[in-house]
Amino acid sequence: MEEQEGKYLKEKLFNIKRNGWDRIKEEEKEAIYKYANEYIYYINKSKTEKEIAENSKEILIKNGFCDLAEKEELHPGDKVFFVNKRRSLFAAVIGEENVDSGLNVIAAHSDSPRIDLKQNPLYEDDDLALFKTHYYGGIKKYQWTNIPLSMHGLVVKPDGERININIGENEEDTVFTISDLLPHLAGEQLERKLKDGIQGEELNVLVGSIPYSDETVTERVKLNILKLLNEKYGLTEIDFTSSEIEFVPAMKARSLGLDASMVGGYGQDDKACCYAALRGILNVFIPRRTAICVLIDKEEVGFNGTTGMNSRLFDTFVSELLNKTGNNYPNALERTFSKSVVISADVDAAYNPNFAQTYEKNNVAKLNKGVTIVKYGGVRGKSGASEAPCELVANLRNIYDKAGVKYQSSELGKVDKGGGGTISLCFANRGMDVIDSGIPVMGMHSPFEITSKYDLYQAYKGYEAFYKS
Ligand code: MN
Ligand code: MN
Repeated sequence: MEEQEGKYLKEKLFNIKRNGWDRIKEEEKEAIYKYANEYIYYINKSKTEKEIAENSKEILIKNGFCDLAEKEELHPGDKVFFVNKRRSLFAAVIGEENVDSGLNVIAAHSDSPRIDLKQNPLYEDDDLALFKTHYYGGIKKYQWTNIPLSMHGLVVKPDGERININIGENEEDTVFTISDLLPHLAGEQLERKLKDGIQGEELNVLVGSIPYSDETVTERVKLNILKLLNEKYGLTEIDFTSSEIEFVPAMKARSLGLDASMVGGYGQDDKACCYAALRGILNVFIPRRTAICVLIDKEEVGFNGTTGMNSRLFDTFVSELLNKTGNNYPNALERTFSKSVVISADVDAAYNPNFAQTYEKNNVAKLNKGVTIVKYGGVRGKSGASEAPCELVANLRNIYDKAGVKYQSSELGKVDKGGGGTISLCFANRGMDVIDSGIPVMGMHSPFEITSKYDLYQAYKGYEAFYKS
């Protein structure tokens, strides 16, 4: 008798963090796998911030959204989007209440760590042609060698002509790589510290080896590569000056594990949350408050630039909503922000059993335990954190509970082990209530990140419920 009472009491009083797959209904399991397949398709097509903006815009148009510029007036239920310089995107569904009574915003970032070309990239070294690079975001450089890379880019000519490059994503395409040293000769290299195992200036991408046929000129392999680029894209060497060319893993995202319960793939930080935020807003019709989905660039390099979250472009977008709903006046924007709630939808580090000592087990996010709620980030004494007030945490718990969404409270790693920040700061600085809530990722910032299909789906359902709250 007492034993059973204990079991009952424990069930009632403990915060028992069950594996999400336990006690799951067959139809939810099917919905999870279906959603994961759609997500895999999306991230395989969208490896860069420009591709996220482009492909997300297409999905929005298919689902009844139109360009904000096409609308003179906005009314409850209207669905609009704004693409900022092809690199970031805001989408909104106008609510029943006036815009100045506050917004429900979900913001994820569309950029991921990668290898960018320098502006004078092409050179020849002993009959091989290579590209000089400068990596983007926080990477462990050694992870980016000896894997197939694809080339995604935009070159703009002085006359405004735009040239899109995408090589290495199709099966029949050629690919690229950064070659590491063979172990037989790596004695000296292996004595380096891991962080210097591959150094920034060693991240050179191999692009060719055939010399141009005229033996009277020098740098014939480089010349041949430029000839190929000229034939295919009309480029000359100086055109790299006005280019943004990104090398990303050419591998496809796919199901992971014998039970296919996880997804392995590049750029899940933060495309997992981008997709959940985007899919969520497609299910919103006439919400109480105006719902906004933000897919923002430049998170990985500190939120700056006109396409980053520090830019006032978001304010301009909200001002336009105020204008077009006939709701604007001198301090309407500030008032709107002060009454708004934001989910900063970014991934969190998932517990990795290979490095158990790095995490504090009670407070680390775990795969299959649901969408995360991160009250604070920051480093060493929460420094630099935008801590969500507990009232806001309670509000989000209520929304998730009512929607039957499984969530877990998490913090990045052990105290003083490191840390990180998110775009939550940018919203807090605007006077908006903001809380981080996202998806656990193992192997974050690597060329092959890992998520749980269960968690992906919880975020989607949770974000949908938040927009509608
Ligand atoms: Mn992130
Ligand atoms: Mn990141």
